Amino acid sequence: MKIYFYNTLTKKKEEFKPMNKEKVCMYSCGPTVYYYPHIGNLRAYLFMDSLRRVLKYNGYKLKHVMNITDVGHLVSDADDGEDKMMKAAKRENKNPFEIADFYMNVFLQDLSKINVDMPEIIARATEHIDCMEEYVKQIIANGYTYETTNAIYFDTTKLDKYGVLSNKDVKEEDLEARIDTDPEKRNPNDFAVWFKAPENHIMKWDSFWGMCYPGWHLECSAMGHKYLGEEFDIHTGGVDHITVHHENEIAQAKGYCGKIPAHYWMHVEFLQVDGRKMSKSLNNLYTLDQLSEMGYEPAVYRMFNLGAHYKKQINFTFDAMDAAKTALSRLREGYLKHKEGTSKINQDVIKEYEEKFNEAINDDLNMPVAMSVVWDVIKNPNKSKSLADLIEKFDTVMGFDLKNYIPEKKELPSDIQELVAQRNEARASKNWAESDRLRDELIAKGYTVKDSKEGTIVEKN
Ligand code: AMP
Ligand code: ZN
Repeated sequence: MKIYFYNTLTKKKEEFKPMNKEKVCMYSCGPTVYYYPHIGNLRAYLFMDSLRRVLKYNGYKLKHVMNITDVGHLVSDADDGEDKMMKAAKRENKNPFEIADFYMNVFLQDLSKINVDMPEIIARATEHIDCMEEYVKQIIANGYTYETTNAIYFDTTKLDKYGVLSNKDVKEEDLEARIDTDPEKRNPNDFAVWFKAPENHIMKWDSFWGMCYPGWHLECSAMGHKYLGEEFDIHTGGVDHITVHHENEIAQAKGYCGKIPAHYWMHVEFLQVDGRKMSKSLNNLYTLDQLSEMGYEPAVYRMFNLGAHYKKQINFTFDAMDAAKTALSRLREGYLKHKEGTSKINQDVIKEYEEKFNEAINDDLNMPVAMSVVWDVIKNPNKSKSLADLIEKFDTVMGFDLKNYIPEKKELPSDIQELVAQRNEARASKNWAESDRLRDELIAKGYTVKDSKEGTIVEKN
């Protein structure tokens, strides 16, 4: 079946044609590990997870790299301000390497809690300084850079076109780049690839240009190239990466080998709060653990995300989280009911469900439509093991791990427990009239009553 993705590079929804028929190679921009990830950040990785799962569902093997930025990302994406790691180290009175270790582990644990299907390769920037140095040396040798007192800059005017994703003109100033602090920078869109480390800078390495550290954009270009080569299939990130980070990655790759590295560029929209992006700077964030403390397990946040297309902003509200929580319970209960069901289902019905589901996920990951097919299956009044199997298959894309779901045993209210005990006694003494009366009373209170060798089994309807 054909897959279609919206490609930011061509600004069109296009048929996905990987370079290799069996294996998809892709790169996702990972986090800068200087603070707790918030659930807005996690939306980006839930999108990445859906993409992986859909490709695997279609039979592809994956070679997927995600970086961990633990050096070089300055407070502004356009090379301005302090290094985020250094700033965090001062805030917490720690060494920046300790900061990186701590928040990287929190991030990876969050991905695990939310059941993200992990990329095959996790590439940490500080473990790839050598490959970045080789990469930048080649860009320099190819004549795409110039030196200032503090940094080596990429000269964007050397390119045929800068701004291929956002259609920026080379002469047009980037708003973020306008707040430059380096007076030696020649053009507004130029960006630093290699920084001279100030005396007090802890994260620095001996290099061809003295004690230095790499620019954030260089990290992704060099690590992507190391693992995936000059060209690969898909590159993902948040929409905030389009105008600066990904333009600069493309610029560097053109400077290195003349090629745009990925064929398909996919970007996930923001999680909003009250109409504004959830972000550390606006201080309007929640973490996964905070949500858990409030009674929303991580899978609820996954359900919340599946309710919107990745290219649409979602507004975070607790009403929506409550709805996602109810939906998750309905999904689990509905799946278990099918699992115990004995009805026979016509193969054509199953095929139709599958076709609709496949069409939705392959239409640029249209998860809300795919979920509507799941609900149709759940609501099918004929409870059947084959429909439970179908839901399990769909769950390889949804990611709720339904197969291993064990329902919590719910305590019956004390008045119901009392009626059950009385009924067991009545049955033991063969008082059938009383037993029937108690059964009717339980049914009237909204319970299903089943008799078994062990006694009366009741369940809330
Ligand atoms: P950072 O650690 O700031 O580099 O961000 C990590 C990832 O989270 C990037 O892909 C961002 O695009 C993404 N991101 C940040 N804030 C949000 C948000 N509110 N909604 C969705 N994605 C976000
Ligand atoms: Zn990146």
